[in-house]
Amino acid sequence: MARRRRNEKSLPELAFGVCMFIVAITMFNPKLREQIFSTVISIVAFLLLIGIIGVAIYLFIQARKADSRPDTFRSPQPVNNVDSLNKRFPNAFKHEENRADGFIIPLPSSNERIPLKSPELSQTELDENKALYKSLYSRKWDVSILRDIEWRRFEKVSIEFLRMSGFVASETKVGADGGVDIRVEKPGVENSAGIVQCKAWNTYKIGIKPIRELFGVMAAERVSTGIFMTSCDFTPEAEEFAKGKITLISGNKFIELISKKSEDDQKFLLDIALDGDYKTPTCPQCDVKMTLRESSKGRNSGGHFWGCIRYPRCKQTLIYKEA
Ligand SMILES: [Zn+2]
Repeated sequence: MARRRRNEKSLPELAFGVCMFIVAITMFNPKLREQIFSTVISIVAFLLLIGIIGVAIYLFIQARKADSRPDTFRSPQPVNNVDSLNKRFPNAFKHEENRADGFIIPLPSSNERIPLKSPELSQTELDENKALYKSLYSRKWDVSILRDIEWRRFEKVSIEFLRMSGFVASETKVGADGGVDIRVEKPGVENSAGIVQCKAWNTYKIGIKPIRELFGVMAAERVSTGIFMTSCDFTPEAEEFAKGKITLISGNKFIELISKKSEDDQKFLLDIALDGDYKTPTCPQCDVKMTLRESSKGRNSGGHFWGCIRYPRCKQTLIYKEA
C-alpha cells in the first residue's frame, strides 16, 4: 500500500523533473532545443494524422453500415412473397410466431423484427391474388401494359425490342443521360449508329419540343438514326417535323411491331415488362425504386408524390397520379 502511494506520487514529480532537466539543457544548447522542438512537433503531427485517419475509417465504416441496412420504406404494392422476403431478411422468419402469411418489417434501429399486422389475407383475398397472378401471366401484349409499366421498365422493354430487331443497343447511364437513353448500331450497316429516346407517358401526347431536341442531339453526335419511342402518341406537329428525320414509335405502333415478333420473343418481352414490381417508378438519379410520400406543406399539402428512398441524399421526386 505504502509503496503504491509513493509510486503514484513520484510519477508527476518524475515527469516534472525530466521537463525541468530538458529546459535546463536547452537553455544552454540552442541547437538541441531546436532538435527537441522539431521532434515534439513531428510527434504531435504524427498523432494528429493517426487521429484523422482513425476518424475517417470510423466514419467510413458507419456509412457502410447505414448503406447495408435493409430499406424500411413500404412499397405501395403489398409484398406477399414469403420466399423473396426470406431472401431479403434472412432472420425475419426465424421465430415461429413471425412465420404467418403476412409479412414483417425490420425496425430501423434494432435487430428485433416485428410482424406487420395489416396483410392478414383472408382466403378470398388469397384467391383473388392467385387469380390476378394467373391473369398477369396469361396476358397478351396490348397498349395498356405499355402504359402501366414505369418509365425504367419501358426503357428495358424498348432496349430488348431493339436488340431483337438487329441493333446492338446499350443504355446510357441513368441520371447523366442528357436526353439520350439508348445508343444503337447495326453491325456492318453503314450510318446505322443512332440514338433512341424513350418516354413512358400516359396522359399527354408527345409534342414537337422533345422531337426537336432529339434531332439536335443527333446533329451534335453526327448520327443519322433517331428513334423516339413512347407508350402514348405524338401530336400532328411532332409527326410533321419528324418526317424523313426521326422514326416515331407510338404506343400502338410499338404493340403492332411487337405482335410481328415470334411467340417466344413476345413472351420474353412480356416477362421483362411484368416481372415483380413494375409500377413503382425508379429514381432517375440513383436507379432504385422510389417510395410514395405525402406532401406536408405547400399548395399540394396532403397530396402524394414519389420520392427517392435515399432522401435527403437524393432529392429527386416524380409526380404521382392519384387513382
Ligand atoms: Zn435518388
